[in-house]
Amino acid sequence: MSLSIAERIALIRSGLPAGVRLIAVTKQVPSDAIREAYAAGIRDFAESRVQEAEPKTIQLQDLPDIAWHFIGHLQANKAQKALQLFEWIHSVDSLKLAQRLDRLAEQLQRKPNVCLQVKILRDPNKYGWTVPDLLADLCALNQCRHLQIQGLMTIPPLGLDESETLAVFEGARELAEKIREQNWPNIRMRELSMGMSADYSVAVKAGATAVRLGTVLFGERQLSSPP
Ligand SMILES: *Cc1c(COP(=O)(O)O)cnc(C)c1O
Repeated sequence: MSLSIAERIALIRSGLPAGVRLIAVTKQVPSDAIREAYAAGIRDFAESRVQEAEPKTIQLQDLPDIAWHFIGHLQANKAQKALQLFEWIHSVDSLKLAQRLDRLAEQLQRKPNVCLQVKILRDPNKYGWTVPDLLADLCALNQCRHLQIQGLMTIPPLGLDESETLAVFEGARELAEKIREQNWPNIRMRELSMGMSADYSVAVKAGATAVRLGTVLFGERQLSSPP
């Protein structure tokens, strides 16, 4: 691809509805390229590893209005650091992690925005709640008062065709609606973080409010990094 990062951003933006947040996924992306994306108007950036994110957030400290999003599996021993670096954690994938983040957020006097990662279809290769497990944990999640639970995050299993992918994303939207109807005081369901480079237009059709894009903005990454 010979387009510049700014041109790719403009092209993708023009195809997204106004309310959809474009989050640039910067794993393996050097800070120069992040600055290009910033200059093109991006303010939401995502990383999937705490160790990789920390030096970048330091290098980019002069860009004050960036919101950093965490999108990877968060190990317990990285939870505190994650709360210090990220405004958003999209990948809260268990009650245990939610409760740990809640305790740490209280100690650090933070109010992180979080999404609950859910698996609409069975997928042994991914972290996250199954639908019945998430429904069963809502009461305990509602008690995590230092978390701002904003919505759901989902990643479809590999190898689905477009209509199957659409069904997964619609399943997430319907689940969010169902949870919203239960009126938990501490659980908002206004964000649907879904859609990556290969499937974001399908996710937007199903009602995504935030898409997480790496490859289509910055090009192919070296090897595959763990999500
Ligand atoms: C890497 C990653 C993305 C971005 O993937 P692309 O296919 O490069 O757009 C989005 N979400 C998560 C959770 C990721 O790990």
